[in-house]
Amino acid sequence: MTDTTCKQDGCERPTIARGLCTKHYDRARNVGDIEFGPRTRGRAGLTHAEIFAVTPKCVTSTGCIEWDGHRSQYQYGIIQSKSFGNRGAHRVAMDMALGERVPDELHVCHRCDNPPCVNPEHLFLGDDLVNVADMIDKGRHAHGERGGGSKLREDQVVEIINRYAAGGIGRPALAREYGVSPACIQKITEGKMWRHLPRPARPQNAPSA
Ligand SMILES: [Zn+2]
Ligand SMILES: [Zn+2]
Repeated sequence: MTDTTCKQDGCERPTIARGLCTKHYDRARNVGDIEFGPRTRGRAGLTHAEIFAVTPKCVTSTGCIEWDGHRSQYQYGIIQSKSFGNRGAHRVAMDMALGERVPDELHVCHRCDNPPCVNPEHLFLGDDLVNVADMIDKGRHAHGERGGGSKLREDQVVEIINRYAAGGIGRPALAREYGVSPACIQKITEGKMWRHLPRPARPQNAPSA
């Protein structure tokens, strides 16, 4: 075997990428092999697992890993792939944890009742009845709103934005005070989270964090 032969056991075909032949490279891409990591050909060709890996996420103090990419109206993370279609980010998290694709007839439910959470330890598989019972349990069916999983309330976020904009307090100090990660504060103050909230202009002479 030379370097130009596919590294898959028993395959003697020539490699085209990552030490694999056309057939085995395509297969690895289609199952979303996470070891393949982000590819450089642009989002269109990325697998769900690859998009999952490169999408920003924010860890809350409750251990939720909140999806900071595209979200549905009910705040579930959505992975959009031209090649592989759309799929819920929490479903992909479960696919990756199980090492196989969760069948469409099974629901992926949140123990933490926090729709944007993609922490596989907070997810469980359920059928229709389990999911409905779970939703009624959490009182979510009537208003379709997300539950109490979010660490910060909107008024606190407004406070953070205004205090940071006023200067005199840095992101690490705000993070400690509100019990969230500095990365969360950064996303809030840069308008990458809670985008809909108004943001005052930061004075030129304000110290940066
Ligand atoms: Zn091969
Ligand atoms: Zn969670």
